[in-house]
Amino acid sequence: MAKQDLILLALDASPIQDLMGRTLHAAGFEVAITHDQDGLKKSMQEAIPALIILGRVFAGQDGIAISQELLERFPTLPIILYSDEDKPDLAKMVLKAGLSDYLHPPLKMDDISAAVTRSLKRARQLGDWLRREVKRTTSSLAEKAKISESERTKLEAIIANIQDGVIVMDENRNVLLINRSIRDIFNLGTKSLNGRSVEEIISNDDLRALLVRTSDNSLKYHEINFDDGKVFNAQYTPIPKIGAAITMQDISYLKELDRLKNEFIHTVSHDLRSPLTAILGYTELIERTGPLNENQNEFLHRLQGSVQHVTVLINDLLDLGRLEAGFDARRDSVQLESVLKYTLDMVDLQVKKKKIKLIVNINGELKPLRANPIRIRQMMDNLVGNAIKYTQNEGTVKIDLSMHENQVILRVEDNGPGIPQEEQSRVFEKFYRATNMAGNEGIQGSGLGLAIVKSIVDSHQGRVWVESTVGKGSTFLVILPIAE
Ligand code: ADP
Repeated sequence: MAKQDLILLALDASPIQDLMGRTLHAAGFEVAITHDQDGLKKSMQEAIPALIILGRVFAGQDGIAISQELLERFPTLPIILYSDEDKPDLAKMVLKAGLSDYLHPPLKMDDISAAVTRSLKRARQLGDWLRREVKRTTSSLAEKAKISESERTKLEAIIANIQDGVIVMDENRNVLLINRSIRDIFNLGTKSLNGRSVEEIISNDDLRALLVRTSDNSLKYHEINFDDGKVFNAQYTPIPKIGAAITMQDISYLKELDRLKNEFIHTVSHDLRSPLTAILGYTELIERTGPLNENQNEFLHRLQGSVQHVTVLINDLLDLGRLEAGFDARRDSVQLESVLKYTLDMVDLQVKKKKIKLIVNINGELKPLRANPIRIRQMMDNLVGNAIKYTQNEGTVKIDLSMHENQVILRVEDNGPGIPQEEQSRVFEKFYRATNMAGNEGIQGSGLGLAIVKSIVDSHQGRVWVESTVGKGSTFLVILPIAE
């Protein structure tokens, strides 16, 4: 037994109080006595006792109420209630109030020290158990913290060392994490950038454009160009409850490959054009050298047809090369309805042959475009030409021209075979021909027409896309801005 335990007697002065004091003292306890509320309060502030013996009525106040207040502040403090008389409901009250025990006359010295010892033992056991529980919980928390800390360090090391640039930011676009590649790409040095705004630390127009475009949930990737010729593909990924991440991959070598490929196509196309012109010229000369028999004539015409087909393909390739290289600076005033008239003249024969119902709508007065008239004609020829080419006999082709704010809108609608959803964005790629159509099998084409249309529209800062349902038809839409 710890003999140095302090027992506080909060009892009105009486022979019982003396008896208790003496008994406990004799049993080796330290004893303090208080007779009023202030004394009790002061004693609790100076040194919390190991146990209190409290009068049922103490300094004119209800001992149960006082003990409840005490237990609210010191829930594990053992309190023994002393009552002058043994009332039948005393045990119930003590139990309800959460006290340790109660004493009442007649009192023997042994009763007092036994009650105190018992209560202290129980309080000590409770204290030990509490300490053990706290230790157990803390050590398991510490263990968990250690694991998550090591996981975090591992993750940080992975992100820091991957080749792609990574920025993780919170919902206000402040940096949470930035890896070494990003620091190298944007020359950010080594100082900590956590908590700073991404826009503030990285002043790159392409990256800003990406962040602007992501706010309306549209495009999530963007090419980022640098003065030294390097090109990166930046991808924006929202992360729920955290913010977002931007990852950047170096695609300079892909861009270089693309450039080499285009250069190769351009050179080959260019070199093929002269011999083709010669072949075509000589096939025309053969006819003049003397009469040809029927077979010779047929073969010659087939030969000319094929050479013309290859020539068209080569011219398309050369055009595309020029457009992609940005050699399309010519800008004149172009009236779209006049361009459309020329295109309609060109397709007139085919429209009649296929008995296509052609509906042309020009809504209101169209403002002229600042554009390259040859390219705009090429764009119109391709779109209208495709609609007529791919629509079955007696189908309908509707062409609409209108103005919306400072933009001219061209719609070319047909009720032809349509393009499957998954191929709709691909038809604008070079050499891509959609697969679904029975029509495509017999219809000649190189798959370059729409790629040329897209390059032309892009070089005029416009937009082109297709809306289509298989079996119902396709609508190609072009929006071109009117330059002020
Ligand atoms: P092509 O020389 O094959 O016509 P384009 O680049 O002009 O090449 O078109 C690419 C592909 O898109 C075509 O092969 C065809 O499958 C599809 N396509 C284009 N226009 C239409 C249309 N109006 N209706 C259905 N499919 C079309």
